[in-house]
Amino acid sequence: MPKKQTANVRTNPGAGGSTRKKHSRMVVQRKNTTIPISVFGNVMKQFDAAAAKMHIDPHLLDFIKVPRRSTIVNLPVRMDDGGYRMFTAYRVQHSIARGPAKGGIRFHPDVTLDEVQALASWMTWKCAVVNIPFGGAKGGIICDPQELSDGELERLTRRYVGDMVDLFGPDQDIPAPDVGSGPQVMAWFMDTYSMRENHPVPGTVTGKPINLGGSLGRNEATGRGVMIATREAARHLKLDLSQATAAVQGFGNVGSISARLLHELGVRFTYVSDVTGAVHSPEGIDIPKLILHVEKTKSVLGFPGVRKVEPGEVLHASVDILVPAALENQVTQENAHQVRCRILAEGANGPVTPEADKILKKNGVFVIPDILCNAGGVTVSYFEWVQNRIGYFWSEDEVNRRLEEKMISAFHDVLNVAIKNKTTMRIGAFMLAIARVVDVVKLRGIYS
Ligand code: NAD
Repeated sequence: MPKKQTANVRTNPGAGGSTRKKHSRMVVQRKNTTIPISVFGNVMKQFDAAAAKMHIDPHLLDFIKVPRRSTIVNLPVRMDDGGYRMFTAYRVQHSIARGPAKGGIRFHPDVTLDEVQALASWMTWKCAVVNIPFGGAKGGIICDPQELSDGELERLTRRYVGDMVDLFGPDQDIPAPDVGSGPQVMAWFMDTYSMRENHPVPGTVTGKPINLGGSLGRNEATGRGVMIATREAARHLKLDLSQATAAVQGFGNVGSISARLLHELGVRFTYVSDVTGAVHSPEGIDIPKLILHVEKTKSVLGFPGVRKVEPGEVLHASVDILVPAALENQVTQENAHQVRCRILAEGANGPVTPEADKILKKNGVFVIPDILCNAGGVTVSYFEWVQNRIGYFWSEDEVNRRLEEKMISAFHDVLNVAIKNKTTMRIGAFMLAIARVVDVVKLRGIYS
């Protein structure tokens, strides 16, 4: 590395934490103390609650519960001003029992190892719930992608791949976009990996641009899956969607697409929020027009015919359906008793804590857990990987038809386990997933 450049090294404010903006999503405020919520701790509690209802050798449970491998790297990246800046990044492979590790890469200032381990673990259980042949993984880079130029983002992505290239590959570990990353980041990832292999390897990532081997339908898949799961839940509860009201927290990929597809089924969205604020209209918000407004202005605020409200009101809205589609730990024991919806469809990963789950159950809220509700994304990622391997691409209708089939059967598999064991959909989903993972581990045996 040239001297001039190393002398210019700057510390990533995200890595040290001292100058990092404090975000509210990872903590619960209680009187005079601030108690952090461990997201990985939440997954452990969910796992333990389900495992307690099953008769499985405790050693096997210990084996499948913890992440297989967690990697931390500190990446020097050349910035546009000619200096270098360090970025801390992670890749966690939770399980490869059922197939290659699979999971997105999050670019966000608040990324922590705890969060990445939790997200990797949820990926294992999610892939098992929808019965696709993948394990679970997740990556994260502590950065604010909004603050980086395209060139800086590209160099950061390439360095991330370069430092951990041996971990990745279509048979080993297959990343995808998550919060703060997208198809362009996947294109850079695929190119960097392919340079090392000396030939194009499209199956090394999913969520790629269509022209690079991405799948039709992938961009909408998570939101479409949320819509299908919510529609099945409404059928089960005999709730007429054409008369139903809803609120959505987070209006990005998952929130806006699930809202648009539910809106097409006649659901009236009375509350919508994003990171900039929240809006309300008792008559219902025109979701397709709001999407166009957000594309132009980057905010739900300022949309004609709506009233600005406090962001907290969205979670407590008196609606039939609530879709949290932002980040973790939004419904906690502090505010769960104020949640008044009939169906809570978890578009985001981990929006409800285990303590809040108990309160929601007592209050009769039907929670569609994340590992089922938002599994449409990884399902179509699997379809993308299959298409890359066979080198033949399906029409969007074909992708959507296969997704519909997968989501409907997963929903009813989970519902049946929940009913049979007199438990919640979350515990039912974990029981189903644990049984499927244990089944393959028993067949493979433990190499020790
Ligand atoms: P995104 O970046 O496209 O959108 C996130 C949205 O949340 C944005 O509208 C942002 O403004 C909003 N937001 C952030 N903080 C907020 C806050 N405090 N209050 C209200 N809104 C807030 O991300 P995404 O891809 O839609 O992912 C959202 C969630 O869904 C994440 O938990 C992610 O892990 C999960 N998820 C995404 C996919 C996928 O395919 N994109 C798949 C499965 C799960």
